Amino acid sequence: MREAENRIIRCPVCHKGRIFDAAEQTDLSTLHLYSPRQSAKADWFTKCPKCGTQIGIAIQPKLTTEQQRAGA
Ligand SMILES: [Zn+2]
Repeated sequence: MREAENRIIRCPVCHKGRIFDAAEQTDLSTLHLYSPRQSAKADWFTKCPKCGTQIGIAIQPKLTTEQQRAGA
């Protein structure tokens, strides 16, 4: 199924390993994956089943326009 395939979150390093699957309604724009070099930004870690790289994960809700202005 092509649609289901789009919900598979793959390794940002090798793009082959399947890190996890997202629910249909999940907003993928809040999900951030980090390679080991950026791991300081991540909240959770997992390992790519293909290349063995440690993948950092962070969920960051999208900022509203107002929050962006306040931060700028
Ligand atoms: Zn990988």
